[in-house]
Amino acid sequence: MLVLGAGPAGLAIASELVPLGLRVMGLSADDPTSPWPNTYGIWAAELDQLHLSHLLKHRWSTCVSYFGADPVALSRDYGLFDPGKLQRHWLGRCSGMDWRRGLAAGLSHDDQGSQVTTQEGEVLRARLVIDTTGHNPVFVQRPSLGPVAAQAAYGIVGTFTADPVPPGQFVLMDYRSEHLSPEERQAPPTFLYAMDLGEGRFFVEETSLALAPPVPIEVLQDRLRRRLAHRGVAVLQQEHEERCLFPMNLPLPDLRQRVLGFGGAASLVHPASGYLVGSLLRRAPGLAAAIASGLARPDLDAAEVAELAWAALWTPELVRKHGIYQFGLEKLMRFSEQELRQFFSTFFALPERQWYGFLTNTLSLSELVVAMLRLFTQAPAAVRWGLMQLKGRETALLWRALRG
Ligand SMILES: Cc1cc2nc3c(=O)[nH]c(=O)nc-3n(C[C@H](O)[C@H](O)[C@H](O)COP(=O)(O)OP(=O)(O)OC[C@H]3O[C@@H](n4cnc5c(N)ncnc54)[C@H](O)[C@@H]3O)c2cc1C
Repeated sequence: MLVLGAGPAGLAIASELVPLGLRVMGLSADDPTSPWPNTYGIWAAELDQLHLSHLLKHRWSTCVSYFGADPVALSRDYGLFDPGKLQRHWLGRCSGMDWRRGLAAGLSHDDQGSQVTTQEGEVLRARLVIDTTGHNPVFVQRPSLGPVAAQAAYGIVGTFTADPVPPGQFVLMDYRSEHLSPEERQAPPTFLYAMDLGEGRFFVEETSLALAPPVPIEVLQDRLRRRLAHRGVAVLQQEHEERCLFPMNLPLPDLRQRVLGFGGAASLVHPASGYLVGSLLRRAPGLAAAIASGLARPDLDAAEVAELAWAALWTPELVRKHGIYQFGLEKLMRFSEQELRQFFSTFFALPERQWYGFLTNTLSLSELVVAMLRLFTQAPAAVRWGLMQLKGRETALLWRALRG
Protein backbone atom coordinates (compact mmCIF):
# COMPACT_ATOMS: atom_id res chain seq x y z
CA MET A 1 0.00 0.00 0.00
CA LEU A 2 1.24 3.48 -0.77
CA VAL A 3 -0.36 6.57 0.81
CA LEU A 4 0.42 9.87 -0.92
CA GLY A 5 0.24 12.88 1.41
CA ALA A 6 0.52 13.33 5.17
CA GLY A 7 -2.31 15.78 5.87
CA PRO A 8 -5.31 14.78 8.01
CA ALA A 9 -6.61 12.37 5.34
CA GLY A 10 -3.26 10.61 4.78
CA LEU A 11 -2.66 10.10 8.48
CA ALA A 12 -6.29 9.08 9.16
CA ILE A 13 -6.26 6.27 6.59
CA ALA A 14 -2.68 5.13 7.35
CA SER A 15 -3.58 4.95 11.04
CA GLU A 16 -6.35 2.45 10.23
CA LEU A 17 -4.42 0.38 7.68
CA VAL A 18 -1.27 -0.24 9.74
CA PRO A 19 -3.08 -1.78 12.76
CA LEU A 20 -4.72 -4.25 10.35
CA GLY A 21 -1.27 -5.67 9.65
CA LEU A 22 -0.95 -4.23 6.13
CA ARG A 23 2.44 -3.07 4.88
CA VAL A 24 1.98 0.65 4.27
CA MET A 25 4.45 3.12 2.83
CA GLY A 26 3.87 6.88 2.85
CA LEU A 27 5.13 9.53 0.46
CA SER A 28 4.72 13.16 1.32
CA ALA A 29 6.02 16.51 0.24
CA ASP A 30 6.27 17.50 3.92
CA ASP A 31 7.64 15.73 6.96
CA PRO A 32 4.59 13.91 8.42
CA THR A 33 5.43 15.39 11.83
CA SER A 34 5.66 19.01 10.64
CA PRO A 35 2.84 21.20 12.05
CA TRP A 36 -0.28 21.69 9.91
CA PRO A 37 -1.07 25.27 8.90
CA ASN A 38 -4.81 25.05 9.72
CA THR A 39 -6.68 24.78 12.99
CA TYR A 40 -9.61 22.39 12.68
CA GLY A 41 -13.01 22.86 14.30
CA ILE A 42 -15.57 20.13 14.95
CA TRP A 43 -18.85 19.49 16.81
CA ALA A 44 -17.62 18.02 20.10
CA ALA A 45 -20.19 15.18 20.10
CA GLU A 46 -18.52 13.76 16.98
CA LEU A 47 -15.42 13.18 19.09
CA ASP A 48 -17.30 12.14 22.25
CA GLN A 49 -18.84 9.29 20.25
CA LEU A 50 -15.39 8.12 19.19
CA HIS A 51 -13.94 8.63 22.71
CA LEU A 52 -11.50 11.16 21.27
CA SER A 53 -12.56 14.39 22.99
CA HIS A 54 -9.13 14.57 24.68
CA LEU A 55 -7.84 15.72 21.26
CA LEU A 56 -9.62 19.06 21.69
CA LYS A 57 -7.73 22.13 22.81
CA HIS A 58 -10.90 24.20 23.35
CA ARG A 59 -14.51 23.26 23.97
CA TRP A 60 -17.46 25.64 24.18
CA SER A 61 -20.90 24.95 25.63
CA THR A 62 -22.21 28.45 24.97
CA CYS A 63 -22.64 28.35 21.20
CA VAL A 64 -24.78 30.87 19.34
CA SER A 65 -25.58 32.23 15.89
CA TYR A 66 -27.19 35.50 14.78
CA PHE A 67 -29.66 35.54 11.92
CA GLY A 68 -31.42 38.61 13.33
CA ALA A 69 -30.79 40.95 16.25
CA ASP A 70 -31.07 38.25 18.91
CA PRO A 71 -28.77 35.26 19.39
CA VAL A 72 -30.02 31.79 18.54
CA ALA A 73 -28.65 29.29 21.07
CA LEU A 74 -27.15 26.14 19.53
CA SER A 75 -27.57 23.32 21.99
CA ARG A 76 -24.42 21.43 21.03
CA ASP A 77 -20.82 21.83 22.21
CA TYR A 78 -18.27 22.95 19.65
CA GLY A 79 -14.54 22.31 19.80
CA LEU A 80 -11.20 23.20 18.26
CA PHE A 81 -8.66 20.44 17.86
CA ASP A 82 -5.21 20.65 19.33
CA PRO A 83 -3.68 20.02 15.87
CA GLY A 84 -0.46 18.59 17.33
CA LYS A 85 -2.41 16.10 19.47
CA LEU A 86 -4.56 15.02 16.52
CA GLN A 87 -1.47 14.53 14.39
CA ARG A 88 0.34 12.56 17.13
CA HIS A 89 -2.78 10.45 17.74
CA TRP A 90 -2.80 9.33 14.11
CA LEU A 91 1.00 8.99 13.82
CA GLY A 92 1.06 6.90 17.01
CA ARG A 93 -1.38 4.41 15.45
CA CYS A 94 0.86 3.95 12.40
CA SER A 95 4.24 4.07 14.12
CA GLY A 96 6.96 2.14 12.35
CA MET A 97 5.47 2.95 8.97
CA ASP A 98 7.96 3.73 6.20
CA TRP A 99 7.59 7.43 5.24
CA ARG A 100 9.45 8.79 2.21
CA ARG A 101 9.87 12.47 1.43
CA GLY A 102 9.14 13.57 -2.13
CA LEU A 103 6.59 14.75 -4.64
CA ALA A 104 4.58 12.15 -6.53
CA ALA A 105 4.74 13.02 -10.22
CA GLY A 106 4.21 9.97 -12.47
CA LEU A 107 1.87 6.99 -12.30
CA SER A 108 1.46 3.73 -14.20
CA HIS A 109 -0.47 0.51 -13.58
CA ASP A 110 -0.38 -3.20 -14.35
CA ASP A 111 -2.42 -6.18 -13.11
CA GLN A 112 -0.32 -6.52 -9.96
CA GLY A 113 -0.48 -2.91 -8.86
CA SER A 114 0.72 0.62 -9.51
CA GLN A 115 4.01 2.41 -9.80
CA VAL A 116 4.58 5.99 -8.62
CA THR A 117 7.59 7.99 -9.73
CA THR A 118 8.63 10.97 -7.67
CA GLN A 119 9.91 14.26 -8.97
CA GLU A 120 13.18 13.34 -7.30
CA GLY A 121 13.39 10.14 -9.42
CA GLU A 122 12.45 7.53 -6.81
CA VAL A 123 10.22 4.67 -8.02
CA LEU A 124 7.70 3.18 -5.56
CA ARG A 125 5.50 0.14 -6.21
CA ALA A 126 2.33 -0.86 -4.40
CA ARG A 127 -0.73 -3.05 -4.90
CA LEU A 128 -2.93 -0.01 -4.20
CA VAL A 129 -2.09 3.71 -4.21
CA ILE A 130 -4.19 6.08 -2.06
CA ASP A 131 -4.04 9.70 -3.13
CA THR A 132 -4.60 12.04 -0.17
CA THR A 133 -2.83 15.04 -1.65
CA GLY A 134 -5.70 17.45 -0.94
CA HIS A 135 -8.40 19.27 -2.87
CA ASN A 136 -6.28 19.57 -5.99
CA PRO A 137 -4.99 15.99 -6.05
CA VAL A 138 -1.95 14.83 -7.95
CA PHE A 139 -3.61 11.74 -9.50
CA VAL A 140 -7.32 11.40 -8.66
CA GLN A 141 -9.49 12.42 -11.62
CA ARG A 142 -12.86 14.15 -11.41
CA PRO A 143 -15.24 15.18 -14.15
CA SER A 144 -15.57 18.89 -14.77
CA LEU A 145 -19.14 19.99 -14.03
CA GLY A 146 -18.85 23.75 -14.13
CA PRO A 147 -17.55 26.37 -11.72
CA VAL A 148 -16.39 25.13 -8.32
CA ALA A 149 -17.51 27.28 -5.39
CA ALA A 150 -14.98 27.97 -2.65
CA GLN A 151 -15.28 28.83 1.01
CA ALA A 152 -13.18 31.90 1.70
CA ALA A 153 -12.35 33.41 5.08
CA TYR A 154 -10.02 35.91 6.64
CA GLY A 155 -9.30 35.51 10.34
CA ILE A 156 -7.16 36.86 13.14
CA VAL A 157 -6.07 35.31 16.42
CA GLY A 158 -5.04 37.96 18.89
CA THR A 159 -5.94 40.37 21.64
CA PHE A 160 -8.39 43.23 21.18
CA THR A 161 -9.24 46.58 22.79
CA ALA A 162 -12.58 45.06 23.91
CA ASP A 163 -14.08 41.55 23.76
CA PRO A 164 -15.21 40.90 20.14
CA VAL A 165 -17.64 38.24 21.45
CA PRO A 166 -18.91 37.72 25.01
CA PRO A 167 -16.52 35.82 27.28
CA GLY A 168 -16.68 32.04 26.99
CA GLN A 169 -18.71 32.17 23.80
CA PHE A 170 -18.47 30.44 20.42
CA VAL A 171 -20.24 32.09 17.48
CA LEU A 172 -20.88 29.79 14.53
CA MET A 173 -22.45 32.36 12.20
CA ASP A 174 -23.14 36.04 12.89
CA TYR A 175 -24.97 37.41 9.87
CA ARG A 176 -25.64 40.87 11.37
CA SER A 177 -24.59 43.47 8.85
CA GLU A 178 -25.48 46.94 10.19
CA HIS A 179 -21.88 48.00 9.50
CA LEU A 180 -22.41 47.58 5.72
CA SER A 181 -23.98 50.08 3.31
CA PRO A 182 -27.32 49.15 1.65
CA GLU A 183 -25.41 48.48 -1.62
CA GLU A 184 -22.93 46.21 0.15
CA ARG A 185 -25.81 44.30 1.70
CA GLN A 186 -26.95 43.41 -1.84
CA ALA A 187 -23.57 41.74 -2.44
CA PRO A 188 -23.01 38.09 -1.43
CA PRO A 189 -23.44 37.87 2.35
CA THR A 190 -20.58 37.02 4.70
CA PHE A 191 -20.68 36.13 8.38
CA LEU A 192 -18.49 36.23 11.48
CA TYR A 193 -17.16 32.93 12.90
CA ALA A 194 -15.62 33.74 16.29
CA MET A 195 -14.55 32.30 19.60
CA ASP A 196 -13.10 33.20 22.97
CA LEU A 197 -9.80 31.31 23.30
CA GLY A 198 -9.32 32.32 26.94
CA GLU A 199 -6.71 34.52 28.64
CA GLY A 200 -7.89 37.57 26.68
CA ARG A 201 -7.31 35.93 23.26
CA PHE A 202 -9.98 35.60 20.59
CA PHE A 203 -10.26 34.17 17.08
CA VAL A 204 -12.45 36.23 14.72
CA GLU A 205 -12.99 35.27 11.10
CA GLU A 206 -15.09 36.86 8.35
CA THR A 207 -16.35 34.01 6.20
CA SER A 208 -18.12 33.49 2.91
CA LEU A 209 -19.89 30.11 3.05
CA ALA A 210 -19.30 29.45 -0.66
CA LEU A 211 -19.20 31.33 -3.92
CA ALA A 212 -17.83 30.93 -7.45
CA PRO A 213 -15.66 32.86 -7.99
CA PRO A 214 -14.85 33.20 -4.28
CA VAL A 215 -15.23 36.42 -2.30
CA PRO A 216 -11.78 38.09 -2.43
CA ILE A 217 -9.77 37.91 0.79
CA GLU A 218 -9.32 41.72 0.78
CA VAL A 219 -13.11 42.17 0.90
CA LEU A 220 -13.33 39.79 3.86
CA GLN A 221 -10.44 41.55 5.60
CA ASP A 222 -12.10 44.94 5.14
CA ARG A 223 -15.48 43.63 6.32
CA LEU A 224 -13.94 42.09 9.43
CA ARG A 225 -12.22 45.35 10.36
CA ARG A 226 -15.45 47.31 9.88
CA ARG A 227 -17.56 44.76 11.74
CA LEU A 228 -15.21 45.02 14.71
CA ALA A 229 -15.03 48.84 14.48
CA HIS A 230 -18.84 49.00 14.52
CA ARG A 231 -18.66 47.25 17.91
CA GLY A 232 -15.91 49.60 19.10
CA VAL A 233 -13.30 46.85 18.86
CA ALA A 234 -9.80 47.15 17.39
CA VAL A 235 -6.93 44.67 17.20
CA LEU A 236 -4.34 45.16 19.96
CA GLN A 237 -1.92 42.42 19.06
CA GLN A 238 -2.20 40.03 16.13
CA GLU A 239 -0.72 36.58 16.84
CA HIS A 240 -1.80 34.77 13.72
CA GLU A 241 -3.57 35.52 10.47
CA GLU A 242 -5.63 32.87 8.61
CA ARG A 243 -6.39 33.16 4.89
CA CYS A 244 -8.69 30.32 4.07
CA LEU A 245 -9.75 29.16 0.62
CA PHE A 246 -10.93 25.67 -0.24
CA PRO A 247 -13.44 24.14 -2.67
CA MET A 248 -16.87 23.20 -1.33
CA ASN A 249 -18.80 21.58 -4.17
CA LEU A 250 -16.25 19.44 -5.95
CA PRO A 251 -17.86 16.77 -8.13
CA LEU A 252 -17.41 13.18 -7.02
CA PRO A 253 -14.32 11.50 -8.45
CA ASP A 254 -14.62 8.82 -11.10
CA LEU A 255 -15.21 5.71 -8.96
CA ARG A 256 -13.66 3.33 -11.52
CA GLN A 257 -10.14 4.76 -11.48
CA ARG A 258 -7.17 2.72 -10.31
CA VAL A 259 -5.94 5.26 -7.75
CA LEU A 260 -8.07 5.45 -4.64
CA GLY A 261 -8.63 8.88 -3.08
CA PHE A 262 -9.35 9.93 0.49
CA GLY A 263 -9.99 13.31 2.14
CA GLY A 264 -10.11 16.46 0.04
CA ALA A 265 -8.78 14.42 -2.90
CA ALA A 266 -11.91 12.23 -2.87
CA SER A 267 -14.35 15.19 -2.47
CA LEU A 268 -15.07 14.24 1.15
CA VAL A 269 -15.51 17.84 2.33
CA HIS A 270 -19.16 18.35 3.32
CA PRO A 271 -20.50 20.41 0.39
CA ALA A 272 -22.85 22.44 2.56
CA SER A 273 -20.71 23.09 5.64
CA GLY A 274 -17.05 22.70 4.63
CA TYR A 275 -16.22 20.23 7.41
CA LEU A 276 -14.04 17.20 6.79
CA VAL A 277 -12.18 15.92 9.86
CA GLY A 278 -15.15 14.25 11.59
CA SER A 279 -15.93 12.39 8.41
CA LEU A 280 -12.29 11.25 8.07
CA LEU A 281 -12.46 9.79 11.56
CA ARG A 282 -15.75 8.03 10.86
CA ARG A 283 -15.03 6.79 7.36
CA ALA A 284 -11.37 5.67 7.61
CA PRO A 285 -12.00 2.44 9.61
CA GLY A 286 -14.61 1.08 7.15
CA LEU A 287 -12.48 2.00 4.16
CA ALA A 288 -9.39 0.35 5.67
CA ALA A 289 -11.39 -2.81 6.43
CA ALA A 290 -12.69 -2.94 2.83
CA ILE A 291 -9.16 -2.52 1.46
CA ALA A 292 -7.83 -5.27 3.75
CA SER A 293 -10.56 -7.69 2.71
CA GLY A 294 -10.01 -6.88 -0.97
CA LEU A 295 -6.27 -7.44 -0.69
CA ALA A 296 -6.87 -10.76 1.07
CA ARG A 297 -8.83 -12.12 -1.90
CA PRO A 298 -6.56 -13.94 -4.36
CA ASP A 299 -9.29 -13.85 -7.03
CA LEU A 300 -9.13 -10.04 -7.32
CA ASP A 301 -6.58 -8.19 -9.40
CA ALA A 302 -5.33 -4.75 -8.38
CA ALA A 303 -7.96 -2.93 -10.46
CA GLU A 304 -10.76 -4.89 -8.77
CA VAL A 305 -9.36 -4.10 -5.31
CA ALA A 306 -9.43 -0.38 -6.18
CA GLU A 307 -13.01 -0.69 -7.44
CA LEU A 308 -14.08 -2.43 -4.25
CA ALA A 309 -12.42 0.28 -2.13
CA TRP A 310 -14.09 3.13 -4.05
CA ALA A 311 -17.45 1.38 -3.64
CA ALA A 312 -16.88 1.17 0.13
CA LEU A 313 -15.91 4.85 0.34
CA TRP A 314 -18.73 6.21 -1.78
CA THR A 315 -21.69 3.95 -1.14
CA PRO A 316 -24.86 4.66 -3.17
CA GLU A 317 -26.43 6.26 -0.07
CA LEU A 318 -23.47 8.61 0.49
CA VAL A 319 -23.46 9.50 -3.23
CA ARG A 320 -27.15 10.46 -3.02
CA LYS A 321 -26.62 12.51 0.13
CA HIS A 322 -23.67 14.28 -1.50
CA GLY A 323 -25.99 15.16 -4.39
CA ILE A 324 -28.59 16.59 -2.00
CA TYR A 325 -25.96 18.68 -0.20
CA GLN A 326 -24.61 20.00 -3.50
CA PHE A 327 -28.09 20.96 -4.62
CA GLY A 328 -28.65 22.66 -1.25
CA LEU A 329 -25.42 24.64 -1.49
CA GLU A 330 -26.31 25.81 -5.00
CA LYS A 331 -29.58 27.16 -3.55
CA LEU A 332 -27.86 28.91 -0.65
CA MET A 333 -25.43 30.65 -3.01
CA ARG A 334 -28.37 32.27 -4.82
CA PHE A 335 -30.14 33.51 -1.68
CA SER A 336 -30.10 37.20 -0.75
CA GLU A 337 -28.96 38.13 2.74
CA GLN A 338 -32.57 38.33 3.91
CA GLU A 339 -33.45 34.90 2.49
CA LEU A 340 -30.29 33.39 3.91
CA ARG A 341 -31.08 34.71 7.39
CA GLN A 342 -34.63 33.31 7.15
CA PHE A 343 -33.33 30.00 5.81
CA PHE A 344 -30.86 29.54 8.66
CA SER A 345 -33.40 30.66 11.31
CA THR A 346 -35.68 27.88 10.08
CA PHE A 347 -32.80 25.41 9.76
CA PHE A 348 -31.62 25.87 13.36
CA ALA A 349 -35.23 25.71 14.60
CA LEU A 350 -35.39 22.11 13.34
CA PRO A 351 -35.06 19.46 16.05
CA GLU A 352 -31.42 19.44 17.15
CA ARG A 353 -30.96 15.86 15.88
CA GLN A 354 -31.86 17.00 12.39
CA TRP A 355 -29.70 20.11 12.05
CA TYR A 356 -26.76 18.44 13.79
CA GLY A 357 -27.13 15.33 11.62
CA PHE A 358 -27.30 17.46 8.48
CA LEU A 359 -24.15 19.41 9.38
CA THR A 360 -22.16 16.33 10.33
CA ASN A 361 -23.52 14.10 7.55
CA THR A 362 -24.66 11.52 10.09
CA LEU A 363 -28.32 11.21 9.03
CA SER A 364 -29.43 8.33 6.86
CA LEU A 365 -30.70 9.23 3.40
CA SER A 366 -34.34 8.91 4.47
CA GLU A 367 -33.71 10.95 7.63
CA LEU A 368 -32.04 13.65 5.54
CA VAL A 369 -35.01 13.79 3.16
CA VAL A 370 -37.44 14.03 6.11
CA ALA A 371 -35.36 16.88 7.62
CA MET A 372 -35.33 18.75 4.31
CA LEU A 373 -39.09 18.33 3.85
CA ARG A 374 -39.69 19.62 7.35
CA LEU A 375 -37.44 22.59 6.67
CA PHE A 376 -39.38 23.30 3.49
CA THR A 377 -42.78 23.22 5.19
CA GLN A 378 -41.61 25.39 8.09
CA ALA A 379 -39.73 28.01 6.03
CA PRO A 380 -41.26 31.43 5.26
CA ALA A 381 -42.91 31.78 1.83
CA ALA A 382 -39.96 33.67 0.27
CA VAL A 383 -37.55 30.88 1.19
CA ARG A 384 -39.97 28.19 0.00
CA TRP A 385 -40.32 30.01 -3.30
CA GLY A 386 -36.52 30.29 -3.59
CA LEU A 387 -36.18 26.57 -2.89
CA MET A 388 -38.74 25.68 -5.55
CA GLN A 389 -37.29 27.74 -8.41
CA LEU A 390 -34.73 25.82 -10.43
CA LYS A 391 -32.10 28.19 -11.76
CA GLY A 392 -28.80 27.63 -13.55
CA ARG A 393 -27.48 24.11 -13.07
CA GLU A 394 -29.91 23.31 -10.23
CA THR A 395 -32.06 21.07 -12.45
CA ALA A 396 -29.00 19.00 -13.37
CA LEU A 397 -27.91 18.81 -9.71
CA LEU A 398 -31.39 17.81 -8.55
CA TRP A 399 -31.56 15.12 -11.23
CA ARG A 400 -28.15 13.80 -10.17
CA ALA A 401 -29.23 13.72 -6.51
CA LEU A 402 -32.42 11.80 -7.39
CA ARG A 403 -30.66 9.40 -9.75
CA GLY A 404 -27.70 8.75 -7.37
C1 LIG B 1 -7.77 27.35 6.30
C2 LIG B 1 -8.63 26.11 6.32
C3 LIG B 1 -9.41 25.85 7.44
C4 LIG B 1 -10.18 24.68 7.50
N1 LIG B 1 -10.90 24.45 8.63
C5 LIG B 1 -11.57 23.29 8.76
C6 LIG B 1 -12.23 22.97 9.99
O1 LIG B 1 -12.27 23.79 10.91
N2 LIG B 1 -12.83 21.77 10.12
C7 LIG B 1 -12.81 20.85 9.10
O2 LIG B 1 -13.32 19.74 9.29
N3 LIG B 1 -12.24 21.15 7.91
C8 LIG B 1 -11.62 22.34 7.71
N4 LIG B 1 -11.01 22.62 6.53
C9 LIG B 1 -11.22 21.71 5.38
C10 LIG B 1 -10.29 20.46 5.37
O3 LIG B 1 -10.39 19.81 6.61
C11 LIG B 1 -8.82 20.80 5.09
O4 LIG B 1 -8.69 21.38 3.83
C12 LIG B 1 -7.86 19.57 5.22
O5 LIG B 1 -6.55 20.06 5.39
C13 LIG B 1 -7.88 18.63 4.03
O6 LIG B 1 -7.11 17.50 4.38
P1 LIG B 1 -6.37 16.55 3.34
O7 LIG B 1 -5.51 15.63 4.13
O8 LIG B 1 -7.38 15.98 2.41
O9 LIG B 1 -5.44 17.53 2.45
P2 LIG B 1 -4.24 18.48 2.92
O10 LIG B 1 -4.39 18.91 4.31
O11 LIG B 1 -4.16 19.53 1.86
O12 LIG B 1 -2.95 17.55 2.84
C14 LIG B 1 -2.35 17.19 1.59
C15 LIG B 1 -1.02 16.48 1.85
O13 LIG B 1 -0.50 16.01 0.60
C16 LIG B 1 0.87 16.43 0.43
N5 LIG B 1 1.10 16.54 -1.00
C17 LIG B 1 0.57 17.43 -1.88
N6 LIG B 1 0.98 17.16 -3.14
C18 LIG B 1 1.79 16.07 -3.06
C19 LIG B 1 2.50 15.30 -4.02
N7 LIG B 1 2.49 15.57 -5.34
N8 LIG B 1 3.22 14.22 -3.58
C20 LIG B 1 3.26 13.92 -2.26
N9 LIG B 1 2.59 14.62 -1.31
C21 LIG B 1 1.86 15.67 -1.71
C22 LIG B 1 0.95 17.73 1.22
O14 LIG B 1 2.29 18.01 1.55
C23 LIG B 1 0.08 17.36 2.43
O15 LIG B 1 0.82 16.58 3.35
C24 LIG B 1 -10.22 23.77 6.41
C25 LIG B 1 -9.46 24.06 5.29
C26 LIG B 1 -8.68 25.22 5.23
C27 LIG B 1 -7.88 25.50 3.96
